[in-house]
Amino acid sequence: MLSILLQTPYSGGYYEEGGGMLQNLTTSEAFFMIIIVAVVGFIVQARMRSVFKQNSEKPLPNGMTGAEIAAQMLRDHNITNVRITHVGGHLTDHFNPVTMTVNLSDEVYSGRSIAAAAVACHECGHAIQHAQGYAPLRLRSALVPIVNFSSRMAVWVIMIGLFMTASSSSDVVCWIGVGMIAMSALFSIVTLPVEYNASERALVWLEANRILRYEEMDGARQSLRWAARTYVVAALSAIASLLYYVALINGRRD
Ligand SMILES: [Zn+2]
Repeated sequence: MLSILLQTPYSGGYYEEGGGMLQNLTTSEAFFMIIIVAVVGFIVQARMRSVFKQNSEKPLPNGMTGAEIAAQMLRDHNITNVRITHVGGHLTDHFNPVTMTVNLSDEVYSGRSIAAAAVACHECGHAIQHAQGYAPLRLRSALVPIVNFSSRMAVWVIMIGLFMTASSSSDVVCWIGVGMIAMSALFSIVTLPVEYNASERALVWLEANRILRYEEMDGARQSLRWAARTYVVAALSAIASLLYYVALINGRRD
């Protein structure tokens, strides 16, 4: 259950609004939701990998590498303080606002494919969000230290809370733990606009600069769309875990 807990979401006023429904939710129903989301997640991951594989095999007409395209996109946005580096692994590409680096996996860094162009530009999209102070990215960055702490502590807080409810009628400690899980859920929800917006910036730039043609644009769009869906699944998974703990604590009280 620890792994489920570590990737959890939520939105303010959730229990109040759906109070009746949530009060009646059982742990087995919530667990069933977790399983469904996990199955959907497995399918989405597999589809994403296959779409990426297909588009990694389609060469770019101009023969540029992902790193070259990323450099051009950053230059076009007058971003001069971000370095482009390569990292090991597969689909490990990310922008790091602390080191101000766009980190591209080998396949993307030196790849000359539609998928490489799409991913390189998506990561540059994050660098541009950072440069422009894009609000959801700022919120997401502000949540990082909170979520790092709360996701580690939440299970223990809930366990202590459940232990305490055995000897007292107060379940306030349990709900503090649930609130900590809710922070992870909030984080995974805030991640969604950040990811979709970075992809949108990538696609607009790729099209405007004629890096990709029509059918190639479709390949880039498909790749980024499936990548974004993995974040949607992560958010649903976090919501399902949150509901599980809500059901667990409600069940204890009855
Ligand atoms: Zn991203």
